[in-house]
Amino acid sequence: MKNSFKLLPDSKGYFGNYGGRVLPVELEKIFMEIELEYVKIKNDKKFQLEYADLLKNYVGRPSPLYFAKNLSAKLGGAKIYLKREDLNHTGAHKINHTLGEALLAKKMGKKKLLAETGAGQHGVALATAAALVGLGCEIHMGAIDIEKQAQNVAKMKLLGAKVICVQSGGRCLKDAVDSAFQAFVKNPTDVFFGIGSVVGPHPFPMIVRDFQAVVGREARAQIIEVEGRLPDYLIACVGGGSNAIGLFNEFLDDDVKMIGVEPAGKSFKDGEHAATLTLGKPGNIHGMFTYLLQDKNGEAMSVHSIASGLDYPGVGPIHSFLKDEGRVDYQFISDDEALAAFSELSKIEGIIPALESSHALAQAIKMAPSLSGDKIIIVNLSGRGDKDVDFVVDVLAKRDNI
Ligand SMILES: *Cc1c(COP(=O)(O)O)cnc(C)c1O
Repeated sequence: MKNSFKLLPDSKGYFGNYGGRVLPVELEKIFMEIELEYVKIKNDKKFQLEYADLLKNYVGRPSPLYFAKNLSAKLGGAKIYLKREDLNHTGAHKINHTLGEALLAKKMGKKKLLAETGAGQHGVALATAAALVGLGCEIHMGAIDIEKQAQNVAKMKLLGAKVICVQSGGRCLKDAVDSAFQAFVKNPTDVFFGIGSVVGPHPFPMIVRDFQAVVGREARAQIIEVEGRLPDYLIACVGGGSNAIGLFNEFLDDDVKMIGVEPAGKSFKDGEHAATLTLGKPGNIHGMFTYLLQDKNGEAMSVHSIASGLDYPGVGPIHSFLKDEGRVDYQFISDDEALAAFSELSKIEGIIPALESSHALAQAIKMAPSLSGDKIIIVNLSGRGDKDVDFVVDVLAKRDNI
């Protein structure tokens, strides 16, 4: 069946059993309004031209599809291509959807973008988009994260954003989400909640997916140009799942295998990983129904990954659907395997990848040797590793590995 997977959610925002708008009724209205506006804008030529122009001249798209010939030769199996989202302005794929969200907010007459951030990557991408389109920006961040991520906090401030230090609870991402949501609910007329991945209440999973789909559209044209055919495998890391669905979406109805890679962290003990689709069960989180790492009471568990961008107990509902359908295979990679891939790519290709992207890379490194030389793998290199360098050098120094 053609177009069976490149699907629109149903009228209530469900992809199969997953997604929806699990919210108090009074909040539902706000998200319905965003949906209506978005549907209009999606079909508006002027909006699409403006967005396409920014992708080209501001973000620097199309991002290259690079044949990693040193790595491929060393592994001695499949050919590995890297989709270079790390070369985007601000250094990752997130700018693709924060720009779209900022333009949408501006068109809706909003005055301010608001969001939470964990390590600060989403905060920086959103503050960048806000600066560009001329909107205010307010980022909520846990006090502990603020201390750890001084550079991203400084960037957000330089970009003109107000950084709110959250002192409640564990003073981390979860508390920042609550704080940001409370601030948003106080003034939903003027404020646009800029969600950071394909998560949250409908229509956000759909909106963010649509804005990220440019990654796969480009990759499809690029691989056909150089290889004259489609790839055999696509591999991407999955936190919320935006870079993964961004790469996968355009290929969903093709004969191409896809692997989403979750963080197995330190171990499969509770609290030491964030392998949601591997070990979670469906439940409610942040306004959606989706796979969730949860305790006996259905509360989100604490999670861990060496890559802070993958450190999320839920996952985008599209991925829950694609897992149940068997369309995408979800695998997992440990902290140590990701670290090894980080070092390997740096040494052999001169590319320092983000720790998040290193999970996808580690999966390719695992698989490539047993595949024949005519097979093609595309790995989504979702971001660059500059942000991780100090941390990785510390870890490796402790192990006498550098
Ligand atoms: C935030 C981030 C991710 C994880 O987010 P997804 O929505 O799962 O893509 C992955 N890679 C990088 C570089 C990130 O900054």
